Amino acid sequence: MLKFISNKGGGESVDFETAILDGFAVDGGLYVPEELPEITLDQLKEWKGLGYVDLAFEILSLFIDRSIVSEEELKDILKTAYAPFEKEEIIPLYPLKTRKDTFIMELFYGPTISFKDVGLAFLVNLVNFFLERRKEHLSVIVATTGDTGPATAYFAAGKSNIDAWVLYPKGLITEEQERQMTTLQHANIHPVGVANCPDGGDDLDAVISKFYANKTFKEKLNLSSVNSINWGRVMMQTVHYFYGYLQVVDEVGEKVNMSVPSGGFGNLCAGSLARKMGLPIKYLVAANNKNACLDRIFSKGEFTKEAIHETASSAIDILIPFNFWRYLYFSIDKDAEKIKNWMDSFKETGNLKFDEETFETYKKGFLSNSATDVETLTLINEIYTSENYLLDPHGAVSLQATDVLKQQLGKEKLICLATAHPAKFPETIKKALITKELPTQATHQSIEIAKKRCEKVYLCDYDHLEEALMHAMETNWDLTKGA
Ligand SMILES: *Cc1c(COP(=O)(O)O)cnc(C)c1O
Repeated sequence: MLKFISNKGGGESVDFETAILDGFAVDGGLYVPEELPEITLDQLKEWKGLGYVDLAFEILSLFIDRSIVSEEELKDILKTAYAPFEKEEIIPLYPLKTRKDTFIMELFYGPTISFKDVGLAFLVNLVNFFLERRKEHLSVIVATTGDTGPATAYFAAGKSNIDAWVLYPKGLITEEQERQMTTLQHANIHPVGVANCPDGGDDLDAVISKFYANKTFKEKLNLSSVNSINWGRVMMQTVHYFYGYLQVVDEVGEKVNMSVPSGGFGNLCAGSLARKMGLPIKYLVAANNKNACLDRIFSKGEFTKEAIHETASSAIDILIPFNFWRYLYFSIDKDAEKIKNWMDSFKETGNLKFDEETFETYKKGFLSNSATDVETLTLINEIYTSENYLLDPHGAVSLQATDVLKQQLGKEKLICLATAHPAKFPETIKKALITKELPTQATHQSIEIAKKRCEKVYLCDYDHLEEALMHAMETNWDLTKGA
């Protein structure tokens, strides 16, 4: 049976169910599979033509032991998870007219219209499946830069075995994103708007980790995590790399390039693992905005936490790409001791320079860029004007990187991941387009509905977050669980 271990090497190996329900490993590391499954070209050829859900079933089956989730159960979970997606293909690919062999992977047709739906649809339904079987209840806390929150809230809403606490930095996400969280009326969903976060979403993560470290509190509320610390998110996100690849290639075996708008490196970590498993990806492009942490890692070998910039692509205003550690673990032959030293040292100092050998090893197959807001907005306008296709700011960051890196990328087909629907960012779209008007592509029915609902939200100041949230969570727990 495939087991999971911490990338920092501490603790025992655990089975899949434990890895999913724990979120974090006991030593604060990230769970990784002991072995990455390998996929041959013959296997890939057999998968060409499969729909997204059927392909997901094949890939997830490599990680999930049948004694833990049976074939029928896995099929059921996947079917339930992806039923609310708007497009039959789940993840359509749009071929750009003005760029040769370039496809936009539209990851935003889930119910909260961002790529977070893709991972969380599966993970939340899987967690719920385990909880129902164990007759247990669990509380999750997530911090959001605008998209994790709505997706977690949507998929957890009404599930009686889960309470979801969804923290967002007030004023640093769009009103549309905020309303996606605050207008759900379900008793088990608790949005928390936090004012005055100096470092945006990263601040919230810092408080959340204190909660996980508080053993008494963690046990009382049965706390877990569904952010991209959770292996289930990363595992699920490998699927769209395989799916996109199989959709665009003429012949299985040819290489393609993929560009990913990135913040926490969760999506890219999945891409890098897909490649390690055998998917023929030539380059993965880490597309940053002005918060260029990954660009520094891949161009200079420096992992540094710097002051945050507010940008037009706010979902990737993230300072610490913690899933980089998961990728690095596999990149340096699973040397957990090295990972532990680096992770601990970074946690202490916020500053790390990798030795030359490590740098050369992990940057193989990666390119990076950081786009300015002006470049991002200009590109949105260009693509809209030239072919009436509207990118959201994150999709634009991804395409912008490949324009800059064209020479290095070469002639292979290119897939740019577009991670959000433009309807989540109407103000930016208005600013970008020379018409200064909002086209219909920048609206979405789900957002229009949310605008007409009442809001239900906890509000507090960052200074008091820890105390206020702990009080709110305990009170809710005592009231609803009758303790
Ligand atoms: C979360 C998010 C990303 C970044 O994903 P990571 O896995 O953290 O790199 C990119 N774009 C959008 C719209 C997102 O919501």
